[in-house]
Amino acid sequence: MKTTTRVAVIGGGVVGASALYHLTKLGWSDVMLLERSELTSGSTWHAAGGFHTLNGDTNMAALQGYTIKLYKELEEITGMSCGLHHVGGITLADNQDRFDMLVAERAKHRYMGLETEIVGPEEIARIAPITNIDGVIGALYDPLDGHLDPSGTTHAYAKAARMGGATIETHCMVSETNQRPDGTWDVVTNKGTIHAEHIVNAGGLWAREVAKMASVYLPLHPMEHQYLVTEDVPEIYGRDTEHPHVMDPAGESYLRQEGRGLCIGFYEQPCKPWAVDGTPWDFGHELLPDNLDKVEDSITFAFNRFPVLERAGIKSVIHGPFTFAPDGNPLVGPVPGLRNYWSACGVMAGFSQGGGVGLMLAQWMIEGECERDVTAMDVARFGKWITPGYTRPKVVENYQRRFSVSYPNEELPAARPHRTTPMYDIFSDLGAVWGQQFGLEVVNYFAQDDEPTFEQPTFRRSNAFDATAREVHAVRNAVGINEVQNFGKFAVTGRGARAWLDYIMAGRIPQIGRMSLTPMLSQKGRLLGDFTVSCLVEDNFQLTASYGAQEVHNRWFMQHLSHDVHVRNVSDRRTGFQIAGPNARDLLTASTREDVAAIKFLDVRRMTVGQVDCTVQRVSYTGDLGYEIYCDPMDHRQLWWTLWNAGQPLGITPFGMRAMMSLRLDRHFGSWLSEFSPDYTAAETGMDRFISFKKNGDFIGRAVAEAERATPPARVLVVFEVDAEDADVVAYEPVFIDGTVQGFCTSGGYSHHTGKSIAMALIPREHAHIGKQVEIEIMGKLRSAVQIEPTFDRQGSKMRS
Ligand SMILES: Cc1cc2nc3c(=O)[nH]c(=O)nc-3n(C[C@H](O)[C@H](O)[C@H](O)COP(=O)(O)OP(=O)(O)OC[C@H]3O[C@@H](n4cnc5c(N)ncnc54)[C@H](O)[C@@H]3O)c2cc1C
Repeated sequence: MKTTTRVAVIGGGVVGASALYHLTKLGWSDVMLLERSELTSGSTWHAAGGFHTLNGDTNMAALQGYTIKLYKELEEITGMSCGLHHVGGITLADNQDRFDMLVAERAKHRYMGLETEIVGPEEIARIAPITNIDGVIGALYDPLDGHLDPSGTTHAYAKAARMGGATIETHCMVSETNQRPDGTWDVVTNKGTIHAEHIVNAGGLWAREVAKMASVYLPLHPMEHQYLVTEDVPEIYGRDTEHPHVMDPAGESYLRQEGRGLCIGFYEQPCKPWAVDGTPWDFGHELLPDNLDKVEDSITFAFNRFPVLERAGIKSVIHGPFTFAPDGNPLVGPVPGLRNYWSACGVMAGFSQGGGVGLMLAQWMIEGECERDVTAMDVARFGKWITPGYTRPKVVENYQRRFSVSYPNEELPAARPHRTTPMYDIFSDLGAVWGQQFGLEVVNYFAQDDEPTFEQPTFRRSNAFDATAREVHAVRNAVGINEVQNFGKFAVTGRGARAWLDYIMAGRIPQIGRMSLTPMLSQKGRLLGDFTVSCLVEDNFQLTASYGAQEVHNRWFMQHLSHDVHVRNVSDRRTGFQIAGPNARDLLTASTREDVAAIKFLDVRRMTVGQVDCTVQRVSYTGDLGYEIYCDPMDHRQLWWTLWNAGQPLGITPFGMRAMMSLRLDRHFGSWLSEFSPDYTAAETGMDRFISFKKNGDFIGRAVAEAERATPPARVLVVFEVDAEDADVVAYEPVFIDGTVQGFCTSGGYSHHTGKSIAMALIPREHAHIGKQVEIEIMGKLRSAVQIEPTFDRQGSKMRS
């Protein structure tokens, strides 16, 4: 056996094999896969082998599309069969909300180039004749849906990898992973120790145990899952063509042809987590005992939807475990806190996602970044706050909701509240309707009097509309207050802090007492963050950015740290409030003895507010006059009472995230992961105005930013007023220009201040000008839209006054 390798991939399921293949495909041939038994000895061998593109996250859907198209390539390279059945599939809708969701998905697919189609009941009966269409409104047809042979496909990946130079060691059990001081790894196996530069954990069902060997916790959990294969069915074997897949979300089932019969699997409500305290090492080639009681209701439902099933005997029951992360997406990328340790696990749909996971991982390892935004599957999207106790109920929730309608305004209830600030009970008493961000409870809006403290999930404007309007008007006409807890915050200190920031950030780094806004770019010029940098004293800076991206940002900082700089993630150590609106200055003046009038836009000051030591920054995401006031969490409530009491004569009103996201639309402020994400460059999104090309020295992404300055990118971010009705833009709706899809929305919503529906979108540069007329597809209808300038305080005089 080889004793040194550049990469040791642990695990020979479909995901490990795909990772290995993609590493060779992108040019690394000194790579090795270690499998404790034979290939496919985890979840992979008993999978139903179905694949599909449908995924609520657009980037995940694109990667699923990549995976499906890859199988032909694999067959061509290796001469092996993946057992492909490209039969197409339909996802049924039996109520309006489910149909709305499919229509919205179809709209997204237009820009992605996916040839899906909305079909009506008659067409469903023609495409999938064993379906009882009673009560069915319509369906989404996807010609790419199909199934394959799980074992054949895994072996095809393995052969293609071997052809690229990879080594595969079976019956090679990894028992320890020990890091050397230089960051490389000793991988201890029953066949000896391998010295590897990098480790990829593709341990599937055992990924938790493999992670533990490196003293990390990866948030995933196995669930039991069951599908049945029937005896021969005349309505199936009598057909000239193979029957397509049918996903029936109402019955929580997926169905396809298997030989001369059918195969049907269920995501049942009385589902069961498996191996709660760890996956046994001696598990692998067996199935779990049948448990038809668990799926009894689902089977009854299926008999009605597919009457042929009632007459078909059951030939076999496949009951096995597979793993989920708390949100159902994979856990991929560099594991925070470890060097040269990569995750490729938590992949619950290995045959839809395995190819995309392998490709992204290989790009990340070899090229330093992925070609698209992989936030949805980045292992760093969960923080240190995550525990097995949190993961388990979330995974159960995810399993149960596998076929549920996902609404854009939905807040899922399991494992909440998990993290709260000292304001939780005070805000709850004021009617807070809570949302969740990165494990933290965050106020969405405040319900009043007899309003329900629950936001109804919907694709249209919700019951939060009136409350949001109230809060927006309070900010624009008096003063609003909300927390700044949900900002990611970093303290950057040390002799080299300024020089380091100048290199890490593309923008200007402020002088003492000042702040600046700056993009953070990748080497390829993609947006990695939109930061506020403030300098309190020389060699001491505070950075703020997205709360949800704090682990991603921290990982980037650690990868690029220099010896004379210290970076600390203080997101939960610095909290406080932002106040915004025309009375914000009076409120702060009434709360401190400092000269508030002397604080100019983008100034930062250390001051006592009431009796609390605070850092005050004059800036506001609402576009209005505003201040962010940071304090220690222990002082949070004291600061609240100071501001709240002083604000009573000034019309102080607490506001939540719904109002904040409406207010920002008036000034066309983009938001992280909507307008600003690794999918886009600074020049595409207008963030280039914050790049300091005058800076001496290099900064990450400079070459690409310079090139974009010389030759502006083809697409550009613009803002439209939409002639909407009761539903606003969410994200990824197609933009039609001259009758064809030429752009897509990044986000949007309702501006309560102006009474307009607003959409932000990326469109070809040549079409971008004020007054440009386009059409945007919202909920299946084409809505006319016109490009506009900011609708509130266009010159920014209120914010700067
Ligand atoms: C009943 C059922 C039906 C399914 N149907 C579908 C479907 O239709 N479509 C779909 O896309 N997905 C389906 N899945 C899910 C699919 O099986 C998984 O997504 C996929 O198999 C995950 O592959 P993996 O490589 O991540 O993990 P695994 O298949 O679990 O592979 C992990 C591998 O790592 C090895 N390993 C672990 N620890 C060590 C160690 N210490 N040393 C060496 N080797 C180690 C194991 O032996 C194993 O071979 C189904 C799952 C089940 C249970």
